[in-house]
Amino acid sequence: MRSPSACAGPGNDFGAVTGPKRREDLSDLEGYHSPQVDVAVRLNTNESPYPPPPEFFEAWTAEVSRADAHRYPDRAARQLRSALGEFLGVPAQRVFCANGSNEVLQTLLLTYGGPGRTALVFEPSYVLHAHIARITGTGVVTGERRPDFTLDPDSAVRMVEDQEPDVVFLTTPNNPTGMVEPRETVEAIVERIAARAKPGLLIVDEAYAEFSPWSAIDMVADGVPLVVARTYSKVWSMAAFRLGFCVAPESIVEELEMVVLPYHLSVPTQLAGTVALRFTGDMDVRVTSIMTERDRVGAALAALDGVEAFPSGANFILFRTAGGQTTWEGLLEAGVLVRNFARWPRLDDCLRVTIGRPEENDAFLAALKEVLAS
Ligand code: PMP
Repeated sequence: MRSPSACAGPGNDFGAVTGPKRREDLSDLEGYHSPQVDVAVRLNTNESPYPPPPEFFEAWTAEVSRADAHRYPDRAARQLRSALGEFLGVPAQRVFCANGSNEVLQTLLLTYGGPGRTALVFEPSYVLHAHIARITGTGVVTGERRPDFTLDPDSAVRMVEDQEPDVVFLTTPNNPTGMVEPRETVEAIVERIAARAKPGLLIVDEAYAEFSPWSAIDMVADGVPLVVARTYSKVWSMAAFRLGFCVAPESIVEELEMVVLPYHLSVPTQLAGTVALRFTGDMDVRVTSIMTERDRVGAALAALDGVEAFPSGANFILFRTAGGQTTWEGLLEAGVLVRNFARWPRLDDCLRVTIGRPEENDAFLAALKEVLAS
């Protein structure tokens, strides 16, 4: 018997290999671009600069060692969902969990988007909303933000009415701009969808809500076309675990469970999510210190000549310099990696810095000053 690799390459018995043809509607799709460069100061992907406390790992590994590794995980993730429900003050039946909030968003689009349906996004915003929409065959309708990146609520509501999208995305705080959407805008869009003859759904992406003054979770109720997506990747310092969830009406959670792959959420992941909720005090301390640092970095950026810093309710700050690309390259040369949006549509010359540890933020500010002076 030949090993599988013997069949895979040129020179095997099958002659020249002609690859499969990508779906026509994905022909110009670009992958996710966020370079993972090895540098001293990595402030480009909005992760927490602090790992979870050592006690978390002790408790988690103890739980994992007791798990029935020969059995599939609980498909309904009951323990995790009830712990999360308790933590959030919502019934467990309104919680759906998946491998990162990206998988939550994908499952939502597989269920409520798809061929012949559309999703409305307000750009610039989180690039994966439009990307996952396209992968799931969902048409993308683009609404524009104002030049200062705020959203005009009247024009947003008008688009919901005129375009009749099946799904509407709103990100608050928005990525990459950092801006917090007013509660009234979320309410106005939900009300408009609910009043429309054609059904639809508003997905509020709250990946960074813990750093911001308000959350739409308390607006979720059975019969209301609203889902709020959250993640363990930022506040919970658990990007490596890939765990996200949403709070949604019970009927939506039931439909998501039907669509998502069975046993998609591993036992170690489910346990990590449950155990993490025993450490909410530690996480609160991290949030407070990141917010203090965010305000310090924001003030320092605003004081720099030639820098326009945008207000942020998240754990990152978007800023603009003349010649953003050169600034990004200069920072990288100095060993500081930030996210480069300088050549993105609507984000000319903009860079986004994740708030790190105080010494990392100092290194960033010092490097930026030097780059701008040179
Ligand atoms: N939503 C937004 C707005 C994000 O910025 C991110 C992470 N960059 C995600 C969702 C995805 O987070 P994860 O899949 O790690 O939970």
